[in-house]
Amino acid sequence: MIIELDDIKESGLSRELAESFEHFPALCELQDSGDVAFVQPLDIQVTARKFEGMVVVEGNVGTAVRLQCCRCLQSFEQPLEAAFCVTYTRHLPAMEDEDQEAEIELQAEDLGMLVFEGDEIDLTETVQEQVVMAMPFKPLCREECRGLCAQCGADLNAGDCGCRDQVLNGKFAALKDFKIKKTD
Ligand SMILES: [Zn+2]
Ligand SMILES: [Zn+2]
Repeated sequence: MIIELDDIKESGLSRELAESFEHFPALCELQDSGDVAFVQPLDIQVTARKFEGMVVVEGNVGTAVRLQCCRCLQSFEQPLEAAFCVTYTRHLPAMEDEDQEAEIELQAEDLGMLVFEGDEIDLTETVQEQVVMAMPFKPLCREECRGLCAQCGADLNAGDCGCRDQVLNGKFAALKDFKIKKTD
C-alpha cells in the first residue's frame, strides 16, 4: 500500500483497491493468534493531496472478520469499517535540546502527523492500525447475547436449560447443610 509522491497531481490522487490481510504484519499476527479470521480482503479507498510540503491522506478501510463471541463462544462474522485522515510530513521542525525535542514530537503526534522519507508514502502502518482499532474489545455475536449457562454450559440463546431453578434449590440445600453442620 504505497503512494508515489509523483502520482499525486494538483487535483490529488484517488485510489481504491482490495488487499489481502497478508500484506499487513499486524493483521497477520492477529490471524495467527487464532482470535480473528479475516474473511474478506481489505477494501481500501484513499485520497491523497499535497499541502505545503505535507501530504494529507484521507481514507476508508472496510473488511469482515470472524470472531468468537465472548459470552456464548460461538463464532460469528462482523464487518469492520474505519475512516481516517493522516498528515504525513517530510521533516519535523529543527530541535535544539532534548526537552524541546520531546515537546515537538508530542505536538506532531497530537496532530496525527507521521513522518515520511524519500518519494513515497507507505500506508501499511496506518491502514493496519485502523483495522486493529475497529476491532471490538469484547466481541459479541449480538447485543442481547445470553451467553452460556454457568452450571451446564448450555447456550442460553438456544433456550433455557432449566438450571436456574436447580441452582436456586441447590442454594437452599447448601444452606440447610450449613445449618446442620453448625449445630453439630
Ligand atoms: Zn454470543
Ligand atoms: Zn444450564
